Amino acid sequence: LDGTYDDGNIFAKILRGEAPAARVFEDEHCFAFMDVFPQSKGHTLVIPKHSQARNLLEEDPAVLAPLILGVQRVAKAVRAALKPDGLVITQFNGAPAGQTVYHLHFHIIPRWDGVALGR
Ligand code: 5GP
Repeated sequence: LDGTYDDGNIFAKILRGEAPAARVFEDEHCFAFMDVFPQSKGHTLVIPKHSQARNLLEEDPAVLAPLILGVQRVAKAVRAALKPDGLVITQFNGAPAGQTVYHLHFHIIPRWDGVALGR
């Protein structure tokens, strides 16, 4: 869980416009884009725009509050657009937990009855 924020991470590059992303929503606080290796149709990531937190534990509550509102807003938009039967919202902290990109992010993963996850 420990470490310093590396502003060369891929999400930092996306925020700076140095790497491409399929943007689905953006406001003053958060940026939402399609996961490039989706676990299901519509798999979306939501990240804080003004943050150097690697994970949830490090995040400033003043950044986290509007970020989670952004997650809810995007989740509602994904529901409206894709009509899933359920939505998984996940967030990993540290490599042993499955984290691979060290800029705080929330996954929004639509689920349909009888459809397994897959890439
Ligand atoms: P983590 O395991 O760190 O929670 O998830 C990182 C997520 O970022 C993975 O689902 C992975 O597919 C996604 N990802 C990694 N690199 C890129 C990229 O360059 N663009 C986009 N849109 N998603 C990425």
